[in-house]
Amino acid sequence: MDVINPANNRKIGEVQEFTEEMVHDTVGTLEKGFAGWSGCSPAARSRILFKAAEIVRQEKDRLASILTAEQGKPLHEAGNEILGAAAVMEFYASIAGTISGRTLPRADYGYAFTKKSPLGVCGAIIPWNMPALIMAWKVCPALVTGNTVILKTASATPLTNIGMADILFRAGLPRDVLAVITGSGAVAGVALAADERIGHLSFTGSAETGDKIAKMINPRRTRLTLELGGSDPMIVCEDADMERAVKGAISGRFFNCGQTCTAVKRLFVAESIADEFVSRLKEGTEAIKVGNGAAEGTTMGPLNSASGLRDMEDAVKSVEDGGNIITGGTRLKGPGNFYSPTLITDPEPESVLMTEEIFGPVLPIVRFGDLSEAIRMANDSRFGLGASIWTKDLKTACEATDRIECGILWINRHMRIPPEVPFGGSKDSGIGRENGLAALEQYLTEKTVILTP
Ligand code: NAD
Repeated sequence: MDVINPANNRKIGEVQEFTEEMVHDTVGTLEKGFAGWSGCSPAARSRILFKAAEIVRQEKDRLASILTAEQGKPLHEAGNEILGAAAVMEFYASIAGTISGRTLPRADYGYAFTKKSPLGVCGAIIPWNMPALIMAWKVCPALVTGNTVILKTASATPLTNIGMADILFRAGLPRDVLAVITGSGAVAGVALAADERIGHLSFTGSAETGDKIAKMINPRRTRLTLELGGSDPMIVCEDADMERAVKGAISGRFFNCGQTCTAVKRLFVAESIADEFVSRLKEGTEAIKVGNGAAEGTTMGPLNSASGLRDMEDAVKSVEDGGNIITGGTRLKGPGNFYSPTLITDPEPESVLMTEEIFGPVLPIVRFGDLSEAIRMANDSRFGLGASIWTKDLKTACEATDRIECGILWINRHMRIPPEVPFGGSKDSGIGRENGLAALEQYLTEKTVILTP
């Protein structure tokens, strides 16, 4: 399979297209590796992850260049993603020795305790938008709890994941404990999800693919984590720090060319400050420098695929009648997949921008009268991944905390996800949690023992 640079649509590499048989053989290899890895001490696992994190940090620039070349994002964003992956490795390395069961003393029958054990071979299927970080989110908690892992990369971004796996092996991870497989979702992805030896499957990707996988997996009752799409609302209240909120909206929407699950996808701004806010937002958006992510000064790269660019154009065209494009709205000169950062005010509530997840640099802006109206519009979505509210008022922040339907709420920021915090969605945005201590439970089974002397 060819790997393409989205900034010029030129081929930059080739990877193996895994067949169904190759996927099943790889699961067999990891099944054999499980005995050794699950029997290894937490300290030994921890040392490998710490060492791998150290090498990742040392080789950050090399990995970032690979990531930019196959994914498109600017080099500084790619570098931050690589460092984010190293931080996740360090977090899980640091807690490896703390994983334990529970003791439940009971005077009437003795006591009960629980023993937590790894599941075996765990599967991971990931998308192309944040391949290094999402790999770390899945592989690290699975490895640290004693599981072996088979990771299916996205077809567009296999090279970063191969590079990260290579570093884990150089840090001492045995070869039969982790496998990175490349290939299409229709063949390699389906084969992995269909393999009955998988103890847990963690999928990140679109809600549509998540549904297909859930239908395949549910009859076997295999454990499943689904991290799916989002249509995150950002609510800017009258008392918000306007400068911070404008910056937050720009980075929240245009970071990674708008291709982030927790990007700001719908912006709601208080009527009383809307004119000034929109005017400052327009100014900031027009200052974004679109170009090849590898070029100096670029602040937004291309979309990752030609089909993503077409979807983006269709989405903007479909709302032209109901909303006002106040900046952008055009495809930029190729050969890469470039689109101008776009702001659209007053879109129809039922337009695709407001009801579906648009994975690209377009932000719809809607005005609101009071907080209840803002929260009602924010919750009017099938998705429930992230959300943010910008206010100085504690009462408003508390009300948002209680009433906004989402898996993660930011107050006066948008999108930061440190390694320690649980992350995941509600509604159509998924099930289960990654990151933090919460992720460990997904990779462990707990047996209760009742002991009567
Ligand atoms: P996608 O669903 O098309 O593909 C994701 C992965 O699934 C790829 O590796 C693909 O090859 C594989 N796949 C495709 N069909 C499959 C099938 N039938 N069986 C098994 N595997 C299959 O998603 P994408 O376009 O790569 O990624 C973008 C989506 O990911 C967006 O919706 C975005 O919001 C979501 N996402 C969610 C999170 C989160 O944490 N919630 C994070 C990043 C991205």
